[in-house]
Amino acid sequence: MGVPLLDLKTQNAALEPELKRAFERVLQSGMFILGPEVDALEAALAAKIGVKHAVTVSSGTDALVLALMALGIGPGDEVLVPTFTFFATAGSVHRLGATPVFVDACPACFNLDVREAAAKVTPRTKAILPVHLFGQAADMDAVLALAKQHKLAVVEDCAQSLGATYKGRQVGTFGEFGTYSFFPSKNLGGFGDGGLLVTNDDALADKARILRVHGMKPKYYHKFVGANFRLDALQCALLGVKLPHYDGYNARRQANAAYYLEKLKSLPGVAVADIAHCCHGATVDAPAGAKLILPAACPHNGHIWNQFTLRVPGTGRRDALREHLQRKQIGHDVYYPLVLEDQECFAPLRGKGQGSVVAKRLASEVLSIPVYPELSRAQQDEVIAALAEFVK
Ligand SMILES: *Cc1c(COP(=O)(O)O)cnc(C)c1O
Repeated sequence: MGVPLLDLKTQNAALEPELKRAFERVLQSGMFILGPEVDALEAALAAKIGVKHAVTVSSGTDALVLALMALGIGPGDEVLVPTFTFFATAGSVHRLGATPVFVDACPACFNLDVREAAAKVTPRTKAILPVHLFGQAADMDAVLALAKQHKLAVVEDCAQSLGATYKGRQVGTFGEFGTYSFFPSKNLGGFGDGGLLVTNDDALADKARILRVHGMKPKYYHKFVGANFRLDALQCALLGVKLPHYDGYNARRQANAAYYLEKLKSLPGVAVADIAHCCHGATVDAPAGAKLILPAACPHNGHIWNQFTLRVPGTGRRDALREHLQRKQIGHDVYYPLVLEDQECFAPLRGKGQGSVVAKRLASEVLSIPVYPELSRAQQDEVIAALAEFVK
């Protein structure tokens, strides 16, 4: 039958009449830049995340750039970033003329290893940028302790984790800023590019709002050099239709992940990530005989499963599984095949935070399988059967 990696058409089709009404409302209003649709979505998101200020922006990448700009990060500054993440996390630092300093990963949760980050602090370090990867929170107590010790700003990249929690509190609310993305493949997927910045700090929110419109306040008077980081009123209206359904999407992702874990963990050759030692000494080496390692949620984390990411240890085994799933027409992808410190564009930085052994191993072993909300049990059973065949 085949199973896609993601099925946006089914999710959006269920809301089609409401989406069309939202489109028509904006069309009739003639107000396409900022205005009431933007204000309404920002108020709804601030309430949902439990934060004072929510500022919509043009993308998750621009949310990162804007957060760093508002904090005054620039040339000569270093920012600690995970090496195992999507490019934007480090690209945004580099675009402002600052230096991304790459930090290795925890093999159990895939998030940045804060002990490694601590070893890379220098007098130039200005900020730490933890990513809550695949929908699971990073080790925030350790991040905040390190930040406090060295007076670092904290920007949380929540692009994959809107609504995820750490010890009962939503990610994005711990640092100076939380940033989010509405790219269609994220848990709250929009109809094009979009992003969000949140903060509890009035002055930083004010600065971000000014920088979002070319650093302009009042009109045509520019206190700073900003840029155009606005999100369209139309995009806000459409996202506003999906927002009330968001918790349901996440609950279905969680149910799907639980079903995979229940059905897969009893198969021979299948191990589960060493969550007991997550961020505290978990080893990257696979348990003896393990052909697949399943992802897991730390007990103190509310995981929202943007990705369900397997590890396939053994030389060539990940690619063998890719081919196997390809033959069965089961959607899959590698997030991410090359750590950021080894990207060609960062070649001039080599030597700074080199040699992230764990992250490099993860990049050679990971494979994500479908976990999207609309996935049916029959489809999941198809994926499970294919994996069972692979480990046999
Ligand atoms: C998607 C993503 C971004 C960038 O978001 P865009 O909206 O695509 O610009 C940044 N960081 C992480 C971790 C992401 O997954």
